[in-house]
Amino acid sequence: MRAVTTTTRSEARTMLHVDCPMCGDAAPYDEASEALSCERCGVRLELAAETDVQLPAAA
Ligand SMILES: [Zn+2]
Repeated sequence: MRAVTTTTRSEARTMLHVDCPMCGDAAPYDEASEALSCERCGVRLELAAETDVQLPAAA
């Protein structure tokens, strides 16, 4: 019998990913500092709890 290898997502569960408001890419969100670091844009966005995050308009 052939063994079936299932690909599992090996993303760190401790790291949240939020869509970057600038490029729309998934960027790691640091809960501790409430900041979103987008490697693509090379920016670090601090997201306060009360700040409305502008997400792409949902269809
Ligand atoms: Zn970005």
